[in-house]
Amino acid sequence: MTLVPLPAFADNYIWMLQDGRNAIVVDPGDAAPVFEALRHGHLQLAAILVTHHHADHTGGVAALHEATGAPVFGPARERIPEPFKPLSQGDHVEVLGLRFEVIDVPGHTAGHIAYFLPANAPHASASDLAPLLFCGDTLFSGGCGRLFEGTPAQMLASLDALAALPGDTRVCCAHEYTLSNLRFAHAVEPGNADLAHYTAQCEALRARGEPTLPSQLATERRVNPFLRSRESTVRRAVHAHAGLPAQAAETEVFAALRQWKNDFR
Ligand code: ZN
Ligand code: FE
Repeated sequence: MTLVPLPAFADNYIWMLQDGRNAIVVDPGDAAPVFEALRHGHLQLAAILVTHHHADHTGGVAALHEATGAPVFGPARERIPEPFKPLSQGDHVEVLGLRFEVIDVPGHTAGHIAYFLPANAPHASASDLAPLLFCGDTLFSGGCGRLFEGTPAQMLASLDALAALPGDTRVCCAHEYTLSNLRFAHAVEPGNADLAHYTAQCEALRARGEPTLPSQLATERRVNPFLRSRESTVRRAVHAHAGLPAQAAETEVFAALRQWKNDFR
């Protein structure tokens, strides 16, 4: 299985997983780059996975489904182009011999789901052994999605669920937001040495025009302030920035951290 991020629009990635004959795509906001990759690799489309209803994740679904007949899977609680197989927490998607687990991750949107592929693929080669997470606009490298429909408590719980996955999980986010997220992360935790090291690595990748993704979950736990809102360094910074009462609950700290990022330039 080969994993490729297909760039779309200004900063989206449409993730494609392919075995040389067949392909799965995740969040095809635009059909054109997917058709191009299918043609170029002589691939058949086997499935379309959708994480949430936003147009930059669903805009190409209808055209791809009509042209290829590939089944569409998506969040049970959201409206995406019909027909699709509705999924929620605990459901599985079986395609190309792979078995994806569905995790509910409300916050960015109310019904957002993520797809997790554990490291148990039977014919995996060494580079395929690490688990895979397609998390849409919930978890970004160094950041998280904006709260358009969900509450801070929901997003915190969703990020907790993702943070609990194995450390070697490859995190396939739907946007290349890493460098701007890391600028904010540095404002929150200027003394975080792992963050400085990771930032240098990502800057070098972007300077070569390469994606910073997939990221590793273990790295995200060390550098991503939204996975670290209970760490004393992050808590202290949020308290100082937002003037929270000393006894503020962890949800309030998380909400203030998200608000800080919204206002950050
Ligand atoms: Zn979105
Ligand atoms: Fe998006």
